[in-house]
Amino acid sequence: MALRKIVVQGEDCLNKVCRPVTEFNRRLHLLMDDLLDTLSEAGGAGLAAPQVGVLRRACVVMDDDTEEYIELINPSIIAQSGEQTGPEGCLSVPGKWGLVTRPNYVRVRAQDRDGKWFEVEGEGLTARCYCHELEHLDGHLYTEHIDRFLTDEEVEEYFSQEEGAD
Ligand code: ZN
Repeated sequence: MALRKIVVQGEDCLNKVCRPVTEFNRRLHLLMDDLLDTLSEAGGAGLAAPQVGVLRRACVVMDDDTEEYIELINPSIIAQSGEQTGPEGCLSVPGKWGLVTRPNYVRVRAQDRDGKWFEVEGEGLTARCYCHELEHLDGHLYTEHIDRFLTDEEVEEYFSQEEGAD
């Protein structure tokens, strides 16, 4: 298990367009293993390679329904529908939350760590996470979509409502 340091907002690597992955080799497998370890240690819903300083189009997203991690290499959104607005945070913007509007459903095409193409889809939080992580690969952060960060009280209110809904 190898943990990598998660870089925070302000570092250049978070604002760069990442290059496609072209070699599905041991080096890539190590990167994906480290992304999984680092994400599960941090307790987040997703992590993209540029967040650990690697400018390649690779990320990991947690499926909110199955709680399984999905590895996405060279991903793109091929279909989307609906709309949702809710609190969003980022491991590279620690301790902060903001309201972001995203599609409620997305379908993503990507390669796995061996280069095989596949498609996945997600709704609600999972869809939000796909959108968030894919944006990282183009050098964008969710903070570009918000007017302001939520206050602690607002964050608490949002998450207590969510628990009530379950
Ligand atoms: Zn993020």
